[in-house]
Amino acid sequence: MRIPPDVSLKGARGVSRTRAGLGSGLEVIVSTQSRIKEEIWLNVPVLETFARESPYRLQGGPRRGYSIVDDRSCERYAVRLPQEPAWYTRRTSSGTPMNRIGVLQGTCLGIYINPVCAFWNYAPALNCRFCTTGQNVGENEALEKSVADVVETCEAARRESGTTFVHLNGGFQGSRGIAFALPYVRAIKERVGLLVGVQLAPERDFTRYDELVAAGVDHVSFCLEFLDPEWFERICPGKARIHGQELFIDALAYCARRMPSGSVSGEIIAGLEPVERTIEAIDLIARLGAFPTVCIFRPTVGSDMEDWPAPAYEDMRSVMARMYDACRRHWIPIGVAPNIEVSLVVTPNEAAFLAPRTLGFYAYEAYRRLATLAARPVFARRLRPRHVESVDHAA
Ligand code: SF4
Repeated sequence: MRIPPDVSLKGARGVSRTRAGLGSGLEVIVSTQSRIKEEIWLNVPVLETFARESPYRLQGGPRRGYSIVDDRSCERYAVRLPQEPAWYTRRTSSGTPMNRIGVLQGTCLGIYINPVCAFWNYAPALNCRFCTTGQNVGENEALEKSVADVVETCEAARRESGTTFVHLNGGFQGSRGIAFALPYVRAIKERVGLLVGVQLAPERDFTRYDELVAAGVDHVSFCLEFLDPEWFERICPGKARIHGQELFIDALAYCARRMPSGSVSGEIIAGLEPVERTIEAIDLIARLGAFPTVCIFRPTVGSDMEDWPAPAYEDMRSVMARMYDACRRHWIPIGVAPNIEVSLVVTPNEAAFLAPRTLGFYAYEAYRRLATLAARPVFARRLRPRHVESVDHAA
């Protein structure tokens, strides 16, 4: 989207280049006026070269409200820009501004907990080519985040922004990623009571995932990225050399068997490998009992792929439609957790708008509504701070 210089963004959340850099856009809320889902949160690319050619233009201002105009058809969509929370600039007791610990992405709090992903330390670097974590951690966000800093930031986000979900990620840390994440998960569950999601590189010792579950983790996700082995190796050389695709798939399947349906997801980047392979990946993830999420490839400024073209609209549309359809066919209860709006990836429930209105569609939508009602007391319990047990491996 283009933002003309006379359009003020006063009060809106700033563009934040944290984590993989994919939060490089402007957070926008589109109202749908539909019972399926009332609004959709987006992180709209505005800095990248391709955004300058976009037919979409932001119009309006903080007082009269905003709209996005499609300059091809002059169609106009009313949107809101979420406000920057007051706690962003507040400091933790160690003196770190809270927005250097975590930022809101949609309604979720995103925190990169680990040291810089180890793929950036190889010579030549083995980082995923779309990623900018190696440039952001220590620059745009704190290099080290103590458990206390993370807990305080979670408390502020919960109290003042109504956040229910924190997403912790950490790139590749050898076999120590989960061990590093556990104290954060335990502290957040015991002292704040947020729902906690963890996204790390897969580890070979699957009992580590049991520890995460025992610590109270609510969601685990794996960045599969591509199904086509050549694309996987070309864009994710570190993951291809150190892990291999099979480990991602096996770890995802293991967690999907151990955790409640709808708790595990596999993330796919759409717009690079052939669309048929992306669709195959979506089907595979759903078949394993997890839900797929799609990250539309963004040629992020500063990444190795910043000059690559953005994907075609029609291709992305078919991928999104398949994502919803795969969840429907496998009766995965998507979108049942309270107040989780994700802006960086497209979730299957957002793709419901693209589904044909068949009997199967209405049956699945009714199932999702019932599942949401039935899950309310479960989430109310999980959103209360509670003591968590440690797994004793010697036992
Ligand atoms: S694993 Fe890849 S995408 Fe994740 S932080 Fe490391 S380089 Fe970036």
